Amino acid sequence: MDLVRSALLAAWPHGFTTRAGGGSPPPWDALNLGGAVGDDPARVAENWRRLEAATGLGFARVRQVHGARVVRLDAPCAPEDEADAVVSLRAGVAACVSVADCVPVLLADPDGGAVAAVHAGWRGTLAGAAREGVRALCREAGARPERLLAAIGPSIGPCCYEVSPELAARFAAALGPGVVRDGPAPRLDLWEANRTVLLEAGVRPEHVERLDRCTACEPGRFFSHRRDAGRTGRQIAFIAPPGPMPGSAPLP
Ligand SMILES: [Zn+2]
Repeated sequence: MDLVRSALLAAWPHGFTTRAGGGSPPPWDALNLGGAVGDDPARVAENWRRLEAATGLGFARVRQVHGARVVRLDAPCAPEDEADAVVSLRAGVAACVSVADCVPVLLADPDGGAVAAVHAGWRGTLAGAAREGVRALCREAGARPERLLAAIGPSIGPCCYEVSPELAARFAAALGPGVVRDGPAPRLDLWEANRTVLLEAGVRPEHVERLDRCTACEPGRFFSHRRDAGRTGRQIAFIAPPGPMPGSAPLP
């Protein structure tokens, strides 16, 4: 298993999975964690077991719908709730979202340890999904935005994400001209767009880490929906409050 990690979130069990470490064949090779992309469900379940074994965590999952709804989950679960962000306050229970170009944003509260994982494609970015994640941590865990830490994970970058002039104009109007790159076709910088959303929600600039890893640019490392024309797998971003899994034996 080969996890990409954030230096800012080093105190929390967390990671961004890559293609490595799973058992799925092409085009889902190898660690496909997406259940609705054509891969054999038994292989996907085995990939999840491998991730659980490698991390020692349980995963609280949701059915992502490109919105901005947040749910708090206190136990590992299969994706049933429709939401695009998960909050966890329980050690050992990882909030997670699955992606293959969309932006995963991980949030952590250094005061209480609570965490959130947010899924933000272009729709979720415009809908302020990352802002809703910040608000949910404040509501559910008493967090303060100016204390929160955030990491913006591997996703399609401004190098590759061409969009229509109409969509580029909507982003520039909503989040400023800095989130659009000009060229033969305009390209969106979803990393900067989500950073802007976080800053507007009260997160401090020095508390936001952009990993700046483009999923489309690294075919050996990441699944990319656009690069692979939809025939590909899903990676996940996850984070759990620090501490032992409740109910597990204390360390000797
Ligand atoms: Zn790229």
